[in-house]
Amino acid sequence: MLNASSQKIMIWNSLQSETLKELDKDMRDRVLLILRDRIQENIVSKVRSLKDYEEALIRSRESTQTLAVESYCKDCNTYVCALVDIMEYLDAISFPTDESIRKICPTCSNNSLIIPKIPP
Ligand SMILES: [Zn+2]
Repeated sequence: MLNASSQKIMIWNSLQSETLKELDKDMRDRVLLILRDRIQENIVSKVRSLKDYEEALIRSRESTQTLAVESYCKDCNTYVCALVDIMEYLDAISFPTDESIRKICPTCSNNSLIIPKIPP
């Protein structure tokens, strides 16, 4: 069971993600940039490799739709910095389960890359 505070975070996140989809593109891009900065600031304090993460941060600036994350491949047993779609990420963190976000690992091509859910 989720505790009261994580339930509140979930409700807030899902409202936020629904509201975002209704905004016009310019406004949505601006809000996404603010959310992205907040999420990335939270991630940067937890990363294993600051150098790799900084490189991913630079690549994420090329589009307002991408978020730089540090993920873990449980098959390769290694940390991988990757770019994910920020709307997909916001949807995933608002989804009411403890399940992690999974992606295809660029090294082993298995669906074994685990992306931690870190709210803005
Ligand atoms: Zn892998």
